[in-house]
Amino acid sequence: MDAEVTRIRDWLGRYLTAWRAALNNANESVRKHALGFPAEDLRAPVQFAVTVCADPNYPFRATALTLTHDAHAPDGEVVIEIAPPEALADRNNDLDKTLVAFFANMRANYVPGRALDPPVRAGSFMHHGLGAGGWMLHDDVSRLSIEDLIAHQFCEPAPVVIQPQPSFKPRYLFAQGEAREETTFTTWLESPGNLADLLEALGMRGPCWYAVSLPRSIVVPGANGDFDFVAGELKFNLTEDEWRVRRARIAGTYSLADHASRIDNETMSEVVRDGCIEWPPSPEATLVGVEVKVSKFDGKTGTLSSTHKNKGPRIEGQLKQLLKIGCTRVGFVHFFVTCPRGGWGTADQDLARAYEKLDEIAPLFNPEGFGYFSAGLAAVSHQDERLAGSQTRLFTHCEPRTYEQTPGSDSARRQLARALSELPRPRDFVQPIRACIDCKALFRAYVPSIDRCGCETTTNEGTEPK
Ligand SMILES: [Zn+2]
Repeated sequence: MDAEVTRIRDWLGRYLTAWRAALNNANESVRKHALGFPAEDLRAPVQFAVTVCADPNYPFRATALTLTHDAHAPDGEVVIEIAPPEALADRNNDLDKTLVAFFANMRANYVPGRALDPPVRAGSFMHHGLGAGGWMLHDDVSRLSIEDLIAHQFCEPAPVVIQPQPSFKPRYLFAQGEAREETTFTTWLESPGNLADLLEALGMRGPCWYAVSLPRSIVVPGANGDFDFVAGELKFNLTEDEWRVRRARIAGTYSLADHASRIDNETMSEVVRDGCIEWPPSPEATLVGVEVKVSKFDGKTGTLSSTHKNKGPRIEGQLKQLLKIGCTRVGFVHFFVTCPRGGWGTADQDLARAYEKLDEIAPLFNPEGFGYFSAGLAAVSHQDERLAGSQTRLFTHCEPRTYEQTPGSDSARRQLARALSELPRPRDFVQPIRACIDCKALFRAYVPSIDRCGCETTTNEGTEPK
């Protein structure tokens, strides 16, 4: 311990000298940034305090380095303390408590025999936020580079960026009328990973196109309503040799240790980008689809309201329609949304409570052969689900079986291929397609929530639900 105190004292002495020199050379804004309080305060003497949280059973330290100023204390005073976690935990002091928590976190991450982290570089391991001039270090402070530390502290402050606030008012999913299903579905689809999970659950693993709210009339002339989600396989049109050459070139840019699927995926993306896919897709290409329903949960009353209670036969009918147009895997995705009534914690609890009621609705649905999935979006009071709240990923309650393409679905599939042939060739590995709500034409959408092709300049952003 004595050796450690001597080492820290020696290091602090050198640091203080460098610190004073840097302060003398600094301009006003750098001075203000240096300690985070008004520059005139810097005329006061500065003291350093180093508190080290140490446990003889572990080969690492948690260290707090603080710079304080006290006009009455001798200039350059240094306080060094090395204490075990128990001693620090007993004190009623935020800094000590933070230090103990910091040490406990390191202990949880530690496995005997693992290499310790390399000596810290000042800039990357410092945590401001302990008040003026404080840092938390997961190392012995004397291993810090004084040069790095000074450079980190005496620099021009980054300009303050004011984030533009979105102009729309919250439009919570639970409060939406007719649009609720589609908005819930596209909001969820646009969160990272969810679309990939849904496609994977439907057995669609390669490049594909998918449509949200695809008008039935496009596939079956004269039919009413929409298919909530249909996805179709895209096939490459390049030879195996061409594929091998591309893949080998891309493989050369990866480490041997990288997972091979990363190379396959990048090769596939490049191939699609270069337009090497069959377009329009052949009417024989695999199609899959789902129908979507939303239940709302009100945490205040504990009630789950569902627009599709006792509508099991209707959902089954819709899934059979998907089979009729040639889909080979179909399913039902049951979404839960919550009424906002607080922060994240409440939102998560409400979602969990909603899930407990899944059985109230699940029995309505005969899952034989059809997939049965669910997912939840929990709302918080300060922002709607597009910007805040929490979500679950896709739960699979029942795997969809794979059907043969229904005999007699050829004309629907040909009709679909004809409609897709009007669109330019996809350049995305997974291409969203929508039908414009104004001109009704199919278009390649950038994200699935876009429902206008650009034929009109009006947008529905900022409008309130009726
Ligand atoms: Zn349009």
